[in-house]
Amino acid sequence: MKLRLHPSIENLVPYKPGKPIGETQREFSLSKVIKLASNENPLGLSAKVKEALTEALTDLHRYPDPTCYELLQDVAMAWKVPTDRISFSNGSDEFLDHLTNVLCESGEKVVTSESAFVAYEVAANSHRLNVLKTPVLSGYRFDLAAMESAAREDASIRIAFVANPNNPTGTYVNAQEMRRFLTATAKIPNFFVVVDEAYNEFVRAQDFASVLPWTQEFDHLIVLKTFSKVFALAGLRIGAMIAHPSVIEIYNRVRKPFNVNSFAQVAARVALKDSECIAKTQQVTWAGLDYFYDELGKLNLPFVRSEGNFVFFDSQRPAAEFNKALLKEGVILRPLLNYGFPTQFRMSVGLPEENAYAIEKIRKVLTAK
Ligand SMILES: *Cc1c(COP(=O)(O)O)cnc(C)c1O
Repeated sequence: MKLRLHPSIENLVPYKPGKPIGETQREFSLSKVIKLASNENPLGLSAKVKEALTEALTDLHRYPDPTCYELLQDVAMAWKVPTDRISFSNGSDEFLDHLTNVLCESGEKVVTSESAFVAYEVAANSHRLNVLKTPVLSGYRFDLAAMESAAREDASIRIAFVANPNNPTGTYVNAQEMRRFLTATAKIPNFFVVVDEAYNEFVRAQDFASVLPWTQEFDHLIVLKTFSKVFALAGLRIGAMIAHPSVIEIYNRVRKPFNVNSFAQVAARVALKDSECIAKTQQVTWAGLDYFYDELGKLNLPFVRSEGNFVFFDSQRPAAEFNKALLKEGVILRPLLNYGFPTQFRMSVGLPEENAYAIEKIRKVLTAK
């Protein structure tokens, strides 16, 4: 059947998630497979979260609280933001859908950078929007000045999407550049800046700042947070948005009332306060990154220093072949062909033994030729 479709929908390329472990085991008849492809927390659920979830089973026959009341109070306290500036979603990617839908009219545009997280483009296209991508600076860094010029020159641009730090490159925008950008764009009518801080807990760069406290200063700033990474709840699907109360209010009108399930609400409250787990995750991530830098250096594979929980590196051979060879060895990494990178990969930090296993197999595949 031939559907009548808008071109931006007809040309949509579905998001390509990391290959599941089970699928890889079946396809290559492997017992041991490690997955370093989706930037998940390798430490798994904290004991405290598990306990809270077990208790929450009792209430699972009830609908979840549509206002996420208790989580809202906890997040307001932890992140020092008033409750009327916070809302939650079924994973932060749900916000991308609603924001592109509500803030933009069909045929208008959003701007982001080349090499930016691909979900912005998918959300924009699925709402019949055009996407402008500014070229990256050296070292794959975002060019905020170019995004600012674009927004000034083209009145149909409604939203700028900035992942900070960015996935898959691991690059970041420093506090000074970000403030300059927000100040310069504040007066552009009906224009918003979405800063996606999925990885800010992993940043070690001294000149980085979370813009979360700046939401009370810039009305056009929208900050997205996720519980999928440092908080280890990727499977439960929960994200947070911090924005001007009028943005929160319109989001609450369009979202589904029960979009955040009971488990997610309970788990997020506990994970948020589990500072021991957060610290452990940071420590494992930073040690893993430093290990990868050393080993990739020894293998003569170029990489970009990362402020996330993953590293972007160049295999220097066609990604499809290299990927297949690694899968046969039981290692799942993320090829980046859908980002237009023919030879590059993103490798998430795992547990120390997983990192060592991945490096061993990369070395094996490289020397097999
Ligand atoms: C992982 C990630 C997210 C989180 O998405 P969820 O839908 O909350 O799991 C958001 N932004 C970026 C850049 C990411 O890499």
